[in-house]
Amino acid sequence: MAGILDLSAREIAKAVHERSVSASEIAEAALARVRERDPHVGAYLSVTEELAREQARRVDERIAAGERPALAGVPTALKDNLCVTGTRTTCASKILENWIAPYDATAVRKLLDAGILPLGKTNLDEFAMGSSCENSALGVTRNPWDLGRVPGGSSGGSVASVASGTATFALGSDTGGSIREPAAFCGVVGFKPTYGRISRYGLIAFASSLDQIGPIANSVADAALVYETLAGFDPYDATTVEREVETVSGNLREDLRGVRVGIVKEFALDALDPAVREVYAQAYRDLERLGAELVEVELPTADYGVATYYLIAPAECSSNLARFDGMRYGLRVEKADVASTYEATRAAGFGDEVKRRILIGTHALSSGYYDAYYVKAQKARTAIADDFKRAFARCDLIASPAASTPAFTFNAKSDPVAMYLMDYYTIPVSLAGLPALSVPCGAVVPEDGTRPMPLGLQLAAPLFSERLLLGAAHAYERATQHALKLPRPQIAKAP
Ligand code: GLN
Repeated sequence: MAGILDLSAREIAKAVHERSVSASEIAEAALARVRERDPHVGAYLSVTEELAREQARRVDERIAAGERPALAGVPTALKDNLCVTGTRTTCASKILENWIAPYDATAVRKLLDAGILPLGKTNLDEFAMGSSCENSALGVTRNPWDLGRVPGGSSGGSVASVASGTATFALGSDTGGSIREPAAFCGVVGFKPTYGRISRYGLIAFASSLDQIGPIANSVADAALVYETLAGFDPYDATTVEREVETVSGNLREDLRGVRVGIVKEFALDALDPAVREVYAQAYRDLERLGAELVEVELPTADYGVATYYLIAPAECSSNLARFDGMRYGLRVEKADVASTYEATRAAGFGDEVKRRILIGTHALSSGYYDAYYVKAQKARTAIADDFKRAFARCDLIASPAASTPAFTFNAKSDPVAMYLMDYYTIPVSLAGLPALSVPCGAVVPEDGTRPMPLGLQLAAPLFSERLLLGAAHAYERATQHALKLPRPQIAKAP
């Protein structure tokens, strides 16, 4: 029975369709595995046993009635900034620690309709602000490959659930890299679609012009299958795009012939540790071996990405998080008057990084500084997007590292800027709204470690080019099989 949990999403759904196993049997096996493994990893903030069982019963009834839901019986983990009716939805913040969501996010609803088994809600950096999961106010998540290291962030719990084999796939959210960087750190596939492709309704907002939901999976094919289920217009999210969703899962490529892959001049690998550099150099050679034509492209403004992002994202967060004031949602620290209640609630409810961002964002938006900071950052954002447009006139995809190092140890980055720089390669892509993913591309033993830790190759594509992006990533994954070559994670015992 446990063997079924190690199959792909498509294979699990097929087994359920053929009735060789029931969704209810899978739910019990998956929940048992969470109980066995997750105490070591800490991927979940809550395990939704009742919901998983109830949904499994519903799926089994639908199967009995002749339906074939695309993700029938697939064990799934959901980042805890996604609303799921009746579940605690905390954003890993004290301010929402006991808040129960009264509705389903559109992405969650679509997955439930497709037959997933929701196993639980996963840990994250508070309000998705961070790159290591260490900013969670509610729990510690460990990297399954080396429990002394961080899983990355902010979708750290979601990637750790997939990497430790407790979930077949998970949903994360990516604002500046929060799906791709942790996916790289944990040796799984993390995919951020084009901004506006997947509804953000029911995703608790961090920076609304950047936030995007996406799948984290063991393979590009599974990520593609989930993406097809999620993509599309939603009347509840005005930024979703009315545009047909191409089928991607049936169009995965076997090679890269005819694909021009841009290598970014400004992302020279010299800055990286030699062992890491060699892994990326090899990844580029592998793309070429598969038939891709490598072309050098320039992104002269990409270097301003991190500075630009750390004005725009905090500005939007300062506005989005203004709603958490103790009046309607979550924590309330009652004081004599309204102003002091706001103050006491927010002082007690938010962690340091969230407060830092609210301060930076409020300052950047304040009159007198607005033009100097916020407007300038918007101009830089446009310049970065224009750079990508020019680059994509010369190539079809852009390849780069997903992160400059493998996963680091806990408390290794006490300087906030050092943490912000973890998203150096992912942030420019986010500012331009482009689809991008991280796919395993090898491993290195960190200088301060003993175990090989995975690295991820980032591939980015023009707006709405998900089909090309996923197709090419699949060809690379199939030819290199890095995820399979890696030794099993410390926690996931071989079946
Ligand atoms: N690490 C970046 C930040 O801290 C990105 C986070 C994200 O994508 N949600 O803002």
